[in-house]
Amino acid sequence: MEKRFHSIAEVMADLQAKTQKNHSTSLETKSEDISSYDCTKCKDKGFILENVPDLYPDGTQKVWADGTPKFVEFIKDCVCSKKRQSEHLLKFSEITDEFKNMTFGNFILDGKLEPIKNAHQCAVDYYKAFDQIKDQRCNSISLLGQPGAGKTHLLTALANNLIIKKQISVLYFPFVEGFNDLKNDFELLEEKLTKMKRIGVLFIDDLFKGRTRPTDFQIEQMFAVINYRYLNHKPIMVSSEKTVDELCDIDEALGTRIFQMCKDYTVVIKGERKVLNHRLAGV
Ligand SMILES: [Zn+2]
Repeated sequence: MEKRFHSIAEVMADLQAKTQKNHSTSLETKSEDISSYDCTKCKDKGFILENVPDLYPDGTQKVWADGTPKFVEFIKDCVCSKKRQSEHLLKFSEITDEFKNMTFGNFILDGKLEPIKNAHQCAVDYYKAFDQIKDQRCNSISLLGQPGAGKTHLLTALANNLIIKKQISVLYFPFVEGFNDLKNDFELLEEKLTKMKRIGVLFIDDLFKGRTRPTDFQIEQMFAVINYRYLNHKPIMVSSEKTVDELCDIDEALGTRIFQMCKDYTVVIKGERKVLNHRLAGV
């Protein structure tokens, strides 16, 4: 809104008031900023400018005409930038707070049977190989078989490691709850399916879980997502109570794609339910 002034004095008074106001605001923001930086090293910019000696390829120092050494400005990632990126990815991953605490370290191996130890080793090996295999045909992992053996814990630990240590984007999709949320909301469905196709790594937990055969809708949507990822060499992490054969019985094209993507990193946990199931421990 435009102000109307009747005299020079009024104009001056107004100007003075404005200057005073600006001055005090800028002072306030300054003191506020310093205390509100999460990282005082880079002031939350995520990078640091450093002056480093300007060298010739053979390593000798470049100098100005008067003999003083030349320097160049160099942009370096601040230590906080990866941390911030990881925090952002963790939020985006839809991994629940409870699951964020699952690590390889707090997975109990003592007294566990061989198949469970194998599954643990498989997840650790996959993590170590990830950078080399991530764009290859076989770039995925599946832990199959016996419920309650810790498959979800191991794959969640793997997801947390990929996010926190490698800044890889991961999306957690629990098969049963995921489809419950999606079945009545077609707008959400489109958005979710796009995310599931494009995310760095897709973690499908308890694929085809249920007392009955999965619905045609569920099979079609899972096929669309997994086939897209198969064609584009994008990794998946799958936990399921079904074996590879059982997955193929439900849908052969889908089962064989999962097998091709995961065959170097697949463990089928079989054994006596009571011994394998950590939820029944002590029963
Ligand atoms: Zn920083």
